[in-house]
Amino acid sequence: MNTIMEIQNISKQYKAKKVLDNISFSIYTKEIVALVGKNGSGKSTLLKIIGGLVDPDIGEVNKHVQSLKIGYVPEVIPSHLFFTPEEYLFHMGKISGIQKNALLQKITDLLEIFNMQEARTTSMINFSKGMKQKMMIMQAMLEETHLLILDEPLSGLDPRAQNELENTLLSLKENGYSIILTCHETKLLDNLVDRVLFIQGGHVMQMEALTKTAIPSNQLVFEYPSQWSLEDFLPLIQIKQMRTINNGNQEVTVTVSQENTDKILLALLQRKATIKQLFPLNHKKDQFYNHF
Ligand code: ADP
Repeated sequence: MNTIMEIQNISKQYKAKKVLDNISFSIYTKEIVALVGKNGSGKSTLLKIIGGLVDPDIGEVNKHVQSLKIGYVPEVIPSHLFFTPEEYLFHMGKISGIQKNALLQKITDLLEIFNMQEARTTSMINFSKGMKQKMMIMQAMLEETHLLILDEPLSGLDPRAQNELENTLLSLKENGYSIILTCHETKLLDNLVDRVLFIQGGHVMQMEALTKTAIPSNQLVFEYPSQWSLEDFLPLIQIKQMRTINNGNQEVTVTVSQENTDKILLALLQRKATIKQLFPLNHKKDQFYNHF
């Protein structure tokens, strides 16, 4: 799992309102990350910063791959689209300067990936929200893309459309794409995401999606030395099936599967962290998801 992007110490304020407060996390290859939080918690702002549409006041978005291409799909979907999918994608591709033959081939490929061949010559005016959502993602993928940023792609879709879109996103992941999406409901994400980042009060908290069965876990609290840099946190972030909460004052609570406990303890001790508590838990997945 390679890092493709590092979001480092991002803060953003609108007038007197601090929306994002010192947010840091990484995005890896071939993963789907969800940014979950209430309305107004700053999800769209963070996506726009990652997509380069809005500048942060402080902090940086570092691409680990220089040629990393990003496709951004906003939450608002145009309601009146009189074109057919083929026409729409062709116009959008031409605007982006894609050469005609390459564009026609790309459109054929995308219609197939998104299972839209049958509707390719139908006016989009009567498309369902799910179909329009697919069109927006296809448009973002006309040019070569590695990271897809999707703002609330699942909201307003009926369960069938949600399911279909989820399957498409999972197959994109299998084909090497990374996806970061926002969602205001965790229950929509059960079978889709690898990681959930909760956003609240300008801060993010990270957790891994766990399997449906109860996983024997341990909870530990540690304090890290003040000279720790981001590199010291990386081995911890990369451990699977782990949830961390930043308690402030250099103290972090970690919930980690029993299987990975030794790994994390070793990483912490090597980096001179102080273990303050360690005790066994028996969490079910729902408990992980119901932190707020
Ligand atoms: P979410 O996507 O979680 O609903 P947003 O990122 O859209 O949250 O908004 C977070 C906060 O920032 C809200 O209070 C919103 O009103 C404010 N905000 C977002 N964009 C702007 C802007 N361009 N100008 C001023 N305030 C903004």
